[in-house]
Amino acid sequence: MTAKKQVKLKPGDTIGILGGGQLGRMLAMAAARLGLRCQVFSPDPDSPAFDVVLNATCAEYADVEALELFANDVDVITYEFENIPAAAAMILGARRPVLPDRKILETTQDRLAEKNFVKRLGIGTADYADVSSAAALRAAISRIGLPAVIKTRRFGYDGKGQAIIRDGDDVELIWEDLGTKSAILEAFVPFDCEVSMIAARSADGHVECFDVTENEHRDHILKTSRAPAAISEALAAQARTIAETIANALDYVGVLAVEMFVLAGDGGPTLLVNEIAPRVHNSGHWTLDGASISQFEQHIRAIAGWPLGKPVRHGPVTMTNLIGDDINSYEQWLTVPGATVHLYGKGPARPGRKMGHVTQVGATPQKTS
Ligand code: AMP
Repeated sequence: MTAKKQVKLKPGDTIGILGGGQLGRMLAMAAARLGLRCQVFSPDPDSPAFDVVLNATCAEYADVEALELFANDVDVITYEFENIPAAAAMILGARRPVLPDRKILETTQDRLAEKNFVKRLGIGTADYADVSSAAALRAAISRIGLPAVIKTRRFGYDGKGQAIIRDGDDVELIWEDLGTKSAILEAFVPFDCEVSMIAARSADGHVECFDVTENEHRDHILKTSRAPAAISEALAAQARTIAETIANALDYVGVLAVEMFVLAGDGGPTLLVNEIAPRVHNSGHWTLDGASISQFEQHIRAIAGWPLGKPVRHGPVTMTNLIGDDINSYEQWLTVPGATVHLYGKGPARPGRKMGHVTQVGATPQKTS
């Protein structure tokens, strides 16, 4: 905890990024604009982030020697995904400051730990239960009711590792299909909409929030984000308070995303936290073109020990993900007035793979189809 207080990079210093996907790529591009270098660590030789940095380490997270050499080459270490193996984070943390602090991963890598943490803070979540056997699942269903959502505690993303359980479903089969002994059952939330808050916190405890973003998913994968979300200012203020409370409780340094459900109720809509992502987030990509400072730059500033920016949005913004075959329409998107196209330089456009995104600032964004 003390090491992070000392981080104060100078232009020309080097940030180590764990993970080589599009988030790492956009972090490295934002760092370059601020005169900072990045070195990316990723086991995947085809990492899109490798294309934008001079120095890359292509090695497994279990490769202790590679981790040590990487740490020696950089001034501070951050990550673009939350499933960094704990052992790797410990080896790195012994040599260089890791920001956000690696202990945060213990909370956010485990849905049960995360839910317990959010609940302890007095923040609303869907009702949930720890489930480690078919019998425990049946007991949880009788308490929580159906429909409900079963989720693996670890390594779930984009709807993977989860299933909706409805009345009449074969509970034993669903449990077997999940293939783990470590899960949670959540009450199904009949939400009005899904929103997220992207917030940044500096080591001295200053928090800056972007405008609340409204998110639409297709096949469990984020398809469209809109900022600002169509919610009241009072609810947006609650979303800011929730993100700030979480960031402070984690003594967080960097950008984090809090995904929330908006649930209608007799006393007005309420917010339930679904998930915390201890990193920059797809629902914050609109900030690259739609605000005076992007989530990527804000993260770099926070971990560099530099002042955070006060984000000013340029207008209503829509971000559309190019997923799988959507990438084939990139030439059409390039001709849409006002559209800004981002392509991640990835290989095959497999179904569900995030290949790029398009940002449009203005009241009525055009579509390509
Ligand atoms: P997650 O992996 O937890 O972010 O879930 C992926 C998506 O599944 C969310 O963005 C929601 O659209 C949906 N989902 C997850 N949990 C619930 C829930 N408890 N109730 C209703 N929908 C959910």
